[in-house]
Order: sequence, then C-alpha cells, then structure tokens
Amino acid sequence: GRTFCDAGSMASMVVKNKLALPAAGDWRDRGGSYVFEPRERFKGFESLYVLPLLVKDEVMGTFTVAAQRAGAFPADRREMLGVIANQVAISMQNGRMVQALEEQATTDGLTGLVNHRTFQERFSAMLGRAERHPMRVSFLLTDIDHFKKINDTHGHPTGDQVLKRVAAILKASARKIDIVARYGGEEFALVLEGTDRTGARQLAERIRQEVGSQTHDSAKGAFRATLSLGVAVYPEDGKSKQELIANADQALYAAKHGGRNRTVCHGEIARAKDAPPPARAAAG
Ligand code: GH3
Ligand code: MG
Ligand code: MG
Repeated sequence: GRTFCDAGSMASMVVKNKLALPAAGDWRDRGGSYVFEPRERFKGFESLYVLPLLVKDEVMGTFTVAAQRAGAFPADRREMLGVIANQVAISMQNGRMVQALEEQATTDGLTGLVNHRTFQERFSAMLGRAERHPMRVSFLLTDIDHFKKINDTHGHPTGDQVLKRVAAILKASARKIDIVARYGGEEFALVLEGTDRTGARQLAERIRQEVGSQTHDSAKGAFRATLSLGVAVYPEDGKSKQELIANADQALYAAKHGGRNRTVCHGEIARAKDAPPPARAAAG
C-alpha cells in the first residue's frame, strides 16, 4: 500500500527501461543508489536484483530479490529469476483479468451498483442467514418519480447523471453489509441486514429527503428529482424473497398512487408527506 515517487529509484528505472537491474545482481558499494525511496536503504545486503514484471511488453510492476551474501545472483540464477518473474507477471495478469470480468458481470456499468442478478443472489443468501440466525431484514424498493419526463425535458445524458447521483446517495446511506442494487432502469433496491421497520423507514426517509434536496443542472435549467419508496420487512411482511419483493412493490405502487415523493411501508396506506397520521374514527 505504499507509494513511491518515480525519480531515480532502482524500481522506477526498471519500470521505465523494462530491464532488470543491477545488470550483474550486485549491491555492494552503491552509495547513492536506492531501491524504492532515497530515505530507505537496503541494509546488510550484498546482492540485489530488481526484475520487471512484463506482459506483452507492458510493465505490471517489479519483482525484487535481495541476498545478504555477495554473488548470490550469477548469470544462471538471474536467468532463472527472469523465468519466474515472467510466470508471476502472467499469473498477475490472469488474476486481474478474472477480477475485471467478475466485476463486469456483477456490477451495473452506469452506476457501479450491483446488478439485478447479483442482487437476487445476495438477497437470497442474506435471507438464508436471517433464517439460521433470526434477525430482521428490510427490503426497500425505490423508483424515481416522473423520470421519463426528466429524460424528455433534459435529455437522456442528464437522466443518466441523475441515476448516478441517486445511486451515490443510496450507496452512501447504506452500510457495508447492506445490498445496494440497480434493480431496473430507474429503480433501485436496498437490502438492510438486521434492520427493522422503524430503522428502514428512517433510512428511506433520509434518502428521500437527500435526493429531493439536490438540484441537477441542465441546458434547460436546474431541476430536482424525487423518489418514491416501498418497504417490506422480513419476516413479518414475507418469509420468501418473492413475497418481500411483491409486498415492497405494492407499497411502492401505493406511494406512487398517493402522490409520489414519499415512503410507504407494506400494510400502510400512503399518506401525504409530512402530514400527521390520519385521525382515528371516534369510538362508539
Ligand atoms: P413514475 O413516477 O410513475 O415512476 O414515472 P416514470 O416516468 O419514472 O416511469 P416510467 O417507468 O414510465 O419511466 C421510466 C423511464 O426511465 C423510461 C426510461 O426511458 C427511463 N430509463 C430507463 N433506464 C434508463 C437509463 O439507463 N438512462 C436514462 N437516462 N433513462 C432510463
Ligand atoms: Mg419505473
Ligand atoms: Mg419512475
């Protein structure tokens, strides 16, 4: 995790020249030379060899070996180290490629959130855990209000920017263990581990207020976007994933129907935002 500047170090010369250094693998009497940083001296070493990790002429890094005794890296050893460095470089390249492919397969390209398929997998896994070690799991389904109009008025690229901003707010609002996914076009899903209805409602409202408070710029002028949210909680609103999704979807529908820009929990009737709870009918 450390960072080195590229001025004059042995490692940076190896990266630049794509050649191993020092040529003979010796590290004796090299007063001014340093491997990574001027301040940091390799002490007690007589032999040193820094090899480039090369894949198709591209340097991925360096591979540094040092030995206390002099003459530890004669020509045949240096050749062998070169072979090892090549193998290391190829393995690293393969590892990075697999990682990049995995990331592409699991994340949404526009927002960087997990995609629908990954959401489904991770939601199932989380419900499995909740069954084994009883805990609540809250599911939030959110949909941007009148997003088609935003696209139509301000253009698709501006719409994309709004999606990114909303995604960033969702991501920042959740904890590491939660799932934040792009569920569909302008729909997002959040799964909150160990969170009950009260906690879920609070988070949903915080998200809704944060999204609604931000202004977006476009050539047609600044505008705001709002969110509607539906909440369903395991286990009381559903034991299966399908049931929870269906019930959050129903709540979201109620939020839309109730005038948008609001949160509705499953089983509740949508009420106007910031309005007091409906008065109970007088008994008798
Ligand atoms: P409502 O308040 O009922 O949700 O209305 P709405 O206009 O948001 O709903 P509707 O489902 O009719 O419109 C969703 C729009 O989202 C339509 C689609 O073109 C747009 N959309 C979906 N994916 C993307 C995307 O990746 N980028 C952009 N810019 N728009 C998208
Ligand atoms: Mg929609
Ligand atoms: Mg919408």
